[in-house]
Amino acid sequence: MKNFSGHCACGEIKLEIETTKANVVNCHCNRCRKLNGSSFSTYIVVSGKRVMLTKGEEFITSYSPSEYAVKNFCKNCGTPIFNQNLKYPHLKMVHLGAVNTLEEIKPNMNIFCQSRLSWISLDETLANFDREIE
Ligand SMILES: [Zn+2]
Ligand SMILES: [Zn+2]
Repeated sequence: MKNFSGHCACGEIKLEIETTKANVVNCHCNRCRKLNGSSFSTYIVVSGKRVMLTKGEEFITSYSPSEYAVKNFCKNCGTPIFNQNLKYPHLKMVHLGAVNTLEEIKPNMNIFCQSRLSWISLDETLANFDREIE
């Protein structure tokens, strides 16, 4: 993969992602569904130091829905930017919608398939996990 840039809806936050190696994950869990308001959520999972906030770091605010999870979003427009999971502290899960070049990024796995909505069909050629990645 190459490098990506992105921004939130209001433009106060800008980011760059340097990706030599990244998983792109669709998460079908109920928590992501509730927090993001979408049928499932797509994340670019990269080493945290590969995600650079180039503008508006002061606009990042966060919410912890559980002991491990942190959602970081723009306090001005609400755009989700990246999640962190304290079980995997070296990783950032960048929300796909925060990135500009969406057509160049394709998911390679689905997680929490056990809570997938029945009307979403799974691509069986991907790595699909009932819950988290083992
Ligand atoms: Zn914003
Ligand atoms: Zn999830």
